[in-house]
Amino acid sequence: MFYKIVTYGCQMNVHESEKIAGLLEQCGYSPLPSEDIAPDIIVFNTCCIRDNAERRALGNIGVVKAEKKRNPALILAVCGCMTQQDGAKDVIKQRYPYVDIVLGTRNISRLPEEIGKVLASRAAAKKSDKRYRAFDTEYLSDYLNVDENTPVFRTSYPNAWVNIIYGCNNFCSYCIVPYVRGREVSRSVDDVLDEVKSCVDEGYGETTLLGQNVNSYGNDIADRDVNFAALLRKIDALDGKFRVRFMTSHPKDLNEEIADAMAQSNKICKNIHLPVQAGSDKVLRDMNRRYTREHYLGLIDMLRSKMPDIGITTDIMVGFPTETEEDFRDTVDLVEKVGYSNAFTFVYSPRKGTPAAAMPQIPYEIKKRRIGEIIKLQNSVTKRLSENYIGGVYEVLVEDVAPKHAGMVCGRTDSGRLVTFPGSSDDVGKFVDVRITESRSASLFGFAEDKPFDKQNG
Ligand code: SF4
Repeated sequence: MFYKIVTYGCQMNVHESEKIAGLLEQCGYSPLPSEDIAPDIIVFNTCCIRDNAERRALGNIGVVKAEKKRNPALILAVCGCMTQQDGAKDVIKQRYPYVDIVLGTRNISRLPEEIGKVLASRAAAKKSDKRYRAFDTEYLSDYLNVDENTPVFRTSYPNAWVNIIYGCNNFCSYCIVPYVRGREVSRSVDDVLDEVKSCVDEGYGETTLLGQNVNSYGNDIADRDVNFAALLRKIDALDGKFRVRFMTSHPKDLNEEIADAMAQSNKICKNIHLPVQAGSDKVLRDMNRRYTREHYLGLIDMLRSKMPDIGITTDIMVGFPTETEEDFRDTVDLVEKVGYSNAFTFVYSPRKGTPAAAMPQIPYEIKKRRIGEIIKLQNSVTKRLSENYIGGVYEVLVEDVAPKHAGMVCGRTDSGRLVTFPGSSDDVGKFVDVRITESRSASLFGFAEDKPFDKQNG
């Protein structure tokens, strides 16, 4: 029996798909070995953060109708945050009658149980004609207890994703996440440490701590000594050779205590993703981000004063409903001032049910021009900063063979920069000192210090 999981959206979803895979393996399913073979179950792990991810997911669920006709035994499941939106359950119920199982973000542990019920009802249907369909999207009160026992089938070696906090309390005015993923719930320190330890024992060289807002880890735990900085220090004290990254940080919750924990550690990477979204105070206020431009720039100075080589990346949204040309110029100015090593740039798209969706919208042509300008600017900043790496030697954790360069592998520096150099699949998972000889925009190229002859071969 084979399974296929189609994942949309962020790293959180990628990791949730690893849990879905773990549950399916427990039920006796194996990953689909080839697209030429028909799967027995298809799971769509959806995302509703952006309109196009949602439309793609719905489009693909529609396409599977034909597959289901060819193979009526196929089980179709839809999970992820799209299912948690107001009315989504009913839309799927009516428009996609061939979908068997719909599970919310805090219900995926019910997958084996629901598969069992679907199969049992199909067997019984020969007599009664009734077919079971599962629609579990309510928030489980014992969610964390259940989740701790959910197996994970990891697919991102040598990086392991580890959730530390679920949900979000922030209600940025453009964002649907708090409505579909619920309030913040932190895992216990012991559970996080146990999971990180087991990843290290299994040979994962890097762990990425995940949460919509990792900086508010522990706020919902009664023990006041539990917070994100304390968690980082405890992870840093674990034995073994490994690295830790985390995402995502919220500028209103990032503080000096967290920066000190990073700066004084050996294992926490000097790398942070700190979404700014906009450079104008007025837009930040309308977005309900709860920090100012000055506060944000102060954080950047504080981080760099403690970690001069820190790699800083960000998210930037252009075309928010109240963004004027002057506001946009503030964003351009901020991007120039900060010097991000990379930025994920987005055009604002309204999400039904959020306050910003009800505001008058900016014409598409204006958004298009602004996103083009920001991308061009960031590319030039990235290119300039990349050149600073040339001649230096950096420890790189090899992640994979380089997809576009035969005989080469790729991995990341502590600061998060992608490096490509001569190597083979045997190097995946190893830490290698690499001398950088060339930069091409965001990518760096070099050779392993202990194999300089590869310089000629590469
Ligand atoms: S912090 Fe804001 S943007 Fe991030 S998930 Fe929460 S509401 Fe959405």
